Amino acid sequence: MIDLVHEYGHAAHHYACGHANISPIFREVFAFLAELMLLEHLCSLEHSDLQLLEQTMLFDDEGYLGDDLTLLADSVRDRQSSYEYRWNYPIARYMAGWIFKYYDRDSIYSLFQHDGSLTDLLNIDEILRAACSGNTLPELPDLPKDSAQSAYAYLGAMTMLDMEYLEGPL
Ligand SMILES: [Zn+2]
Repeated sequence: MIDLVHEYGHAAHHYACGHANISPIFREVFAFLAELMLLEHLCSLEHSDLQLLEQTMLFDDEGYLGDDLTLLADSVRDRQSSYEYRWNYPIARYMAGWIFKYYDRDSIYSLFQHDGSLTDLLNIDEILRAACSGNTLPELPDLPKDSAQSAYAYLGAMTMLDMEYLEGPL
């Protein structure tokens, strides 16, 4: 269901913005916003699928903010690397969460209708600065790659970051 809503978010955004040519990273923001809106709607209904959807989104976070973020970070270090679409996901995922947290729903709909870059409407520097400074958790120690210990530490860190995002500093 979440994949369907993600693609519906792309379609709704494409229609709402008048079929404007929007950069991939901002297109993904709207697909992720659609996912969050579904989650919010099911929450308001106390729907029986809510828990399953939350688990699916947390699982997806591990990909978008795990492997995809690693891929993006590697590309920053290696300027020769070939473009991959997945580079868009980590920043788009974070921006969607930020917008969903701080914007009322009418304002979000206005963003869907905007036919230019989100940089025209949002202070991207502020959003990214918040991403870097909002985390109060200690840095992860260096662990051997591909070890069970590293995998558990990584999953634990993702959970802690989600908890901190949802509930404030731990
Ligand atoms: Zn997408």
